[in-house]
Amino acid sequence: MNPKYLITIYIAVTLLPLGVSWVGTRPARSVLDELASGAGMLAFAIILAEFVLSGRFRSISGKIGMDVTMRFHQLFARTALLLAILHPFLYRLPFARQLPWDQHGQFTLQTDLGYLASGMVAWVLLAVLVAMGIGRASLDYRYETWRLMHGIGAALIAMLLLHHTLNVRSYDDDPLLAIAWVVLFSVAIVSLLYVYAVKPVLQVRQPWIVSSVLPIARKTWEVTVQPLGHRGLTYDAGQFVWLNVGHQPFSLNENPFSISSAPKSGGDLQFVIKELGDFTSSIGQIETGTRAYVDGPHGNLTIEGRTQPAIAMIAGGVGIAPLLGILRQLSIDGDPRPLVLIYANRIEEQIVYRRELDKFGENKGTTIIHLLSEPPSDWTGPTGLVDADFLKRQFGSKEPSQWLFLLCGPPAMIESVEGNLIDLGALPGQILSERFNYD
Ligand SMILES: Cc1cc2nc3c(=O)[nH]c(=O)nc-3n(C[C@H](O)[C@H](O)[C@H](O)COP(=O)(O)OP(=O)(O)OC[C@H]3O[C@@H](n4cnc5c(N)ncnc54)[C@H](O)[C@@H]3O)c2cc1C
Repeated sequence: MNPKYLITIYIAVTLLPLGVSWVGTRPARSVLDELASGAGMLAFAIILAEFVLSGRFRSISGKIGMDVTMRFHQLFARTALLLAILHPFLYRLPFARQLPWDQHGQFTLQTDLGYLASGMVAWVLLAVLVAMGIGRASLDYRYETWRLMHGIGAALIAMLLLHHTLNVRSYDDDPLLAIAWVVLFSVAIVSLLYVYAVKPVLQVRQPWIVSSVLPIARKTWEVTVQPLGHRGLTYDAGQFVWLNVGHQPFSLNENPFSISSAPKSGGDLQFVIKELGDFTSSIGQIETGTRAYVDGPHGNLTIEGRTQPAIAMIAGGVGIAPLLGILRQLSIDGDPRPLVLIYANRIEEQIVYRRELDKFGENKGTTIIHLLSEPPSDWTGPTGLVDADFLKRQFGSKEPSQWLFLLCGPPAMIESVEGNLIDLGALPGQILSERFNYD
């Protein structure tokens, strides 16, 4: 689906409850009171939409990219929190004054603890959930614990807010509005169940086994999984999967890894994995024959449908993984387009598949550039970082509109390279990037 349609659907969904209440026949209140209700409704609708913006739905992240999906998820969570904070403070209405002519309860605020308490608990929980998300990297608990708390917390907030919203007196007599809330809530909960219950059941029917685990560079491993009794995965070069090795499919122990093999090289999936935390540091202990499960493919770092006449790939460290898959696929296809790969590492020992990459460099029109920031004394290649000067030297004299730029690596590097390429005249639509960061 075209990203424009996705944005239109998002806006329509989040504005639906507001629209339904707008067409209702309640008497008008002061602007601040209307804003207070509107802020609450919009916050709840955004929270419900967050469930489908979790990054686990290919129809969304496959179109706009995982990075953009997660940036939206974070931005909208903060927006919802801001609106939720404003919601109770904007009201100018008095508390629970019984007005005989106020049939809808439009001109008083209830003091009914049942409905107020559910709203207040959700309000506090939302603030805690967003704060924990923002500070997650500096909080000392396992990623899987965070994921579990995030899922349960979000479901709890949605349930409490549904209770609060359906029982608030000023809107509780509007059946159309109640239907809108129940439908949005159901979609959110079904999407949560799909990720945590339906997908694992589907994965049980399509198991994989680890067929090899090889050290290929400093703290870096090549892991290959093989389909067990099925035809494997249909994917585009450059995409990634959530990989679960050695755990049952309902486990939360799964991590995103880019596929470094080419779709046309066979049914096995290959990964380049760098040691970072608890799972990746134990890769070397995985035995061949271990059962694995794969959820994917995800992501839009692919060249499918991209018609630019030249391709530039810029990889930072293990960010080479998806670009390797694309490079291998381009080689199998005999793609004639000029291609430049800039592969940046700190030290020489971090370079993976050097011989294979240099062999690609022998193809006409293909240039492979190894860049080191801490080179050994006998290094003859370029040194330093992929900064503005370096990019200017590589692309400054070329027509920027001719290139498709594929970037993958640490978030800080990607952000600076994106900015520098734009400064050189590339358009955002020509730059596809993936940060190895899913928060
Ligand atoms: C789209 C994408 C593609 C990636 N491709 C590769 C690749 O090809 N090769 C590679 O070496 N690394 C890749 N990564 C990074 C890789 O996922 C993390 O290094 C790995 O998950 C760390 O797990 P850990 O248990 O060893 O470390 P931990 O110490 O548990 O986690 C370290 C950090 O990794 C991230 N992380 C951990 N678990 C998960 C999870 N289940 N889901 C999402 N993020 C998690 C979190 O930011 C966490 O703070 C990719 C990341 C993303 C988002």
